Amino acid sequence: MTDAVVTLSTLHVGKGRNSLATTLEQRSGSGCTKSSCGAAAGPGDLPPEVWEKIKDHPCYSEEAHHYFARMHVAVAPACNIQCNYCNRKYDCANESRPGVVSERLAPEDAVRKVLAVAAEVPELSVLGIAGPGDACYDWRRTKATFQEVSARLPDLKLCISTNGLALPDHVEELAAMNVDHVTITINMIDPEIGTKIYPWIFFQGRRHTGIEASRILHERQMQSLEMLAERNILVKVNSVLIPGINDQHLVEVNRAVKARGAFLHNIMPLISAPEHGTVFGLSGQRGPTAAELEAVQEACAGGANLMRHCRQCRADAIGLLGEDRGQEFMLDKLPEEAAVDDAARRRYRAWVDAERSDRRAAAEAAEADMADSVAVGAPRLLVAVCTKSGGRINQHFGHAKEFQVFEVDAAGVRFVGHRRADNYCLGGYGDEDRMAGVLEALAGIDTVLCAKIGSRPRQTLADAGIEAIDDHAYEYAETAVAAVYAARFGTVAAPALRA
Ligand code: SF4
Ligand code: SF4
Repeated sequence: MTDAVVTLSTLHVGKGRNSLATTLEQRSGSGCTKSSCGAAAGPGDLPPEVWEKIKDHPCYSEEAHHYFARMHVAVAPACNIQCNYCNRKYDCANESRPGVVSERLAPEDAVRKVLAVAAEVPELSVLGIAGPGDACYDWRRTKATFQEVSARLPDLKLCISTNGLALPDHVEELAAMNVDHVTITINMIDPEIGTKIYPWIFFQGRRHTGIEASRILHERQMQSLEMLAERNILVKVNSVLIPGINDQHLVEVNRAVKARGAFLHNIMPLISAPEHGTVFGLSGQRGPTAAELEAVQEACAGGANLMRHCRQCRADAIGLLGEDRGQEFMLDKLPEEAAVDDAARRRYRAWVDAERSDRRAAAEAAEADMADSVAVGAPRLLVAVCTKSGGRINQHFGHAKEFQVFEVDAAGVRFVGHRRADNYCLGGYGDEDRMAGVLEALAGIDTVLCAKIGSRPRQTLADAGIEAIDDHAYEYAETAVAAVYAARFGTVAAPALRA
């Protein structure tokens, strides 16, 4: 770490912290407990005003991501820095990763698109501007979009992602526009490390390179965090994990952003391939393995709360996390003016409120039964769940493109992430090549819960040491995971499991 970083860290830790940051820290303690951590938290774990901000945001609340959708509009294509993992020219409808879009929009087109999506997708709760480009550098277009959308759809949450360089200049306006959620990508707090990630920045009318560029970027990012915390705007920090460059360093980043009041830290794996045309892609810089990512996340325990359900969406993604309906809403398919049914949106939210209460009550009852019947010290299981939405086991094994993974032991059930694979079933027939990919994605998993599974894939899973269970179809995931665990390791039959 350089002297400059030590000085900054020393100066800034403890400054700019607000009552919200302090309350969150007091509630979460020094470590990450089962249900009190950022994205995994529920209404009992957070101050009411914070819960109100996150409860419908699919990225800030793990629970909300089962029910609510986000959309990104790419209105701000200009950027004031260059990251070695980014190529803003890249554009592919089949490519799913941050920074990739099929359409760049003028603010008025973005508004037309948002209205059309809101008319069709009652789950829509968040509008984000997340590249390619920087939402704060291209501020005029970002502001024009947000102003018009908030006038037309006041129940939509507004959200930006930015590299932070221009952010201090716009914090006041963000607060005035009721933007409650800001994501800053922070990959380093040591400018020496920054020199391996950022070849240049453009700041105050000129281009800066080398250590000077990274130092300015770092200082502006830290300043941004503090300014946002002072105004009670929730901040998620994204960090791209780049093996050999910042993998060890991200633990320090995690501590530093927590000290400045960040609500969540989202550590994302670098996605890198030569065909992307990025500096890292062309130089052969690899991304981390799942195990490397997990190791860094584990090393961050006790620091800023981690987001574990990020899907690394495209910059024009539309829909629930894990799905992308962007191609349904291309500009040439949209009406000039869509009529949004506000009553339908309210009805959907009322249904979600009821469903969430029911789900929480069911999960608590199942965990209580489990605690009564399972001996302390029973082994940990990893359970993969096939779900389309709603947090229920409601998907056929062969249709799953993603498995939600839960860890369970005598202490309870915890969501730990998701794993992706191409769906095994194609047009009614299983594809053995795809099954190999599914098995790879399920490495280390003990049990799969799905709505239905054929005898052949069931046997293939069994041969790989994985039990497939479809007896809990349409139950809530946590409830079913607890029931399976109690059935396997319970010493007495729990009441709910006997019923
Ligand atoms: S800040 Fe975003 S748009 Fe700009 S170079 Fe980096 S990844 Fe690309
Ligand atoms: S990339 Fe991650 S944080 Fe951004 S919208 Fe997708 S899930 Fe949310």
